[in-house]
Amino acid sequence: MIDVVLKKGKEKSLLRRHPWVYDTAIGKVAGKPLSGDAVCVRASDGAFLGYGAYCPSSALRVRIWSFNESELMDAPGFVEGRLKAAVSARADLLGRTTARRLVFGEADGLPGLIVDSYGDWLVTQFQSAGAEQRRELIAATLMELTGAKGVFDRSDAATRTREGLASRVGVLAGAEPPEKIEVVEDGVKYWVDVRHGHKTGFYVDQRESRLAAQKLAEEFRRKNGRGLRALNCFCYTGGFSLALMAGGAEQVVSVDSSGEALARAAENAELNGFDSSRMQWVEADVFAFLREQREAGELYDLVILDPPKFASSHYHVERAARAYKDINLNGMRLLAPGGHLFTFSCSGAIDVDLFQKIVAGAVFDVHREAWAIGRFGAGCDHPLLMTYPEGEYLKGLHLLMRP
Ligand code: SAH
Repeated sequence: MIDVVLKKGKEKSLLRRHPWVYDTAIGKVAGKPLSGDAVCVRASDGAFLGYGAYCPSSALRVRIWSFNESELMDAPGFVEGRLKAAVSARADLLGRTTARRLVFGEADGLPGLIVDSYGDWLVTQFQSAGAEQRRELIAATLMELTGAKGVFDRSDAATRTREGLASRVGVLAGAEPPEKIEVVEDGVKYWVDVRHGHKTGFYVDQRESRLAAQKLAEEFRRKNGRGLRALNCFCYTGGFSLALMAGGAEQVVSVDSSGEALARAAENAELNGFDSSRMQWVEADVFAFLREQREAGELYDLVILDPPKFASSHYHVERAARAYKDINLNGMRLLAPGGHLFTFSCSGAIDVDLFQKIVAGAVFDVHREAWAIGRFGAGCDHPLLMTYPEGEYLKGLHLLMRP
């Protein structure tokens, strides 16, 4: 195995078990490892730091798969063991949902590998050169461990370009999945299109927040003797909208700029047999729609803001912050006294503190008082590895507008 020797003093983050090695930290590579090859990373004094996968084209040159000198990453059973641990850690979730993340990259010691499970089907994303090189073994092992009917690969995320990998979409193992797969999450049914849907087909990461929305709708009806009126912005295929209907919401207005997503959302509502007269699907730009609603004097008991990633990197934080503030400010203006706001950001470059500050700025500017009465994040199948804070990307706040 080829040694990658770091510059003096650059071993500190690895000693804290952070799994990334940037090209700028590397002093010498004793050979020419190919994309995805296993290398041994050493400190400048030659001390062992970890085994990782090399990526010649990325600034993120090595991702560590093992910090244990006796655990060679390409030894028989190593990858299988990691996959087995990852899959069994999510077994309990089956009691609640058939849409689960089985592998969450670095957090599972499998850098750059994403595996989601939808019923009998698995969907993969190979977002690192190391995962890419081992994809056949990974697919075969997953089939064996889960008894899945097939593994469909959605390796079409932009992040692959940085690793020098081309886009790939198609069957990796087993059978071709159906056009749409039915999943059930906390009693609500959804169609998942693994070929064309966002990410691997569904926002698995919003499970806990969808359940919180459902519970809020239930509680609202109990307390107020009527169902709540909600506005779900950036609704995609209707995740929050359906959860609210399941909780007994009176009216749910859902907005998205994609007509295709809205059509799928309406199909999902039908799949659950929800009363379509209580659900409106609006194709519009949320930024403009919120302003129009204010002019029309509309008021809601709950507004949900779950936008796409506004900041794709640290370079875009300022512009993204303005966009988050804009929708939060205009969303709050539509809330009745005592109204609720569920507001999210899935931009990794905007951390929990900054997001809170942005939302606080919006509260200040609308001249209202608000309490944060809850915080949201991805579910337990997207665990935060404590030595890898970059794994935390999804954050949200539940605000209550004070009367
Ligand atoms: N809340 C969803 C996920 C949201 S994904 C869920 O829980 O499943 C983001 C969505 O925002 C996408 O469907 C995209 O079409 C939509 N979108 C992006 N920009 C938009 C804009 N300016 N106005 C309205 N919708 C937008």
